[in-house]
Amino acid sequence: MMSGSIKPKTPEQVEAMAASGRVLAGALDEIEAEVCPGVTTGELDAIAESFIRDHSGIPSFLGVPAADPGVEPFPGAICASINDAIVHGIPGSAVLREGDIISLDCGVILDGWHSDSARTLAVGEIDPDASRLLDVTRAALAEAIRASVAGGHIGDIGAAVQKLVEEAGLTIVRRFVGHGIGRTMHESPQVPNFGRPGGGPELVPGTTLAIEPMVNIGSAGVVFDTDGWTARTDDGSLSAHFEHTVAITHAGPRVLTEAV
Ligand code: MG
Ligand code: MG
Repeated sequence: MMSGSIKPKTPEQVEAMAASGRVLAGALDEIEAEVCPGVTTGELDAIAESFIRDHSGIPSFLGVPAADPGVEPFPGAICASINDAIVHGIPGSAVLREGDIISLDCGVILDGWHSDSARTLAVGEIDPDASRLLDVTRAALAEAIRASVAGGHIGDIGAAVQKLVEEAGLTIVRRFVGHGIGRTMHESPQVPNFGRPGGGPELVPGTTLAIEPMVNIGSAGVVFDTDGWTARTDDGSLSAHFEHTVAITHAGPRVLTEAV
């Protein structure tokens, strides 16, 4: 897989990205508090968009062009991906039900700087298998962040995710990867959720990455809905997704998409 070169940010630019990330974390906190049986994904989308605009941000997902020219640009501020949906679920009339899991992914532009973050939540009480999937995927992101240190390499991040997920008997989605982030949402390098320690570009201070393990209970295969966006597991098994925007600093990894 191509990795590409890293574009390190200055400390001032990292601070600007952290400001973007705080707005994003606030938006995700707002919609997380609303997640319960009976809520629609469209309602969550409207809350997130209002919060972002009220805080002088721009919802970066809204209007993103599809890779396929026959598919409409993304119509939401959030991606809302329920159960077997991995990523890129379109928010709308879908109603959350007791026992669902939902991945909420959102992006903000503030003063020209992007941030990108996702979390997967339980709707009411969920099965033990679903609960374990969320725990493992959340832990995989934490391990990946711990591996995001100056002098390390992109491959260390993927290797950390891969080890934890595969030891848990779960499956990594390889079709989608994390990415560099900054003035644009997707910059070099790609950040796969698998890899070899020491592989890929070196992590230098000022590197800013969106790290985002996507983990399935069953098959790693991906199928797309007829909407052209929603990506699902090809066996209908549950999928979870957690993401933070992280800066590599002299003082260690700094999560930029936390409310603080
Ligand atoms: Mg995202
Ligand atoms: Mg991302």
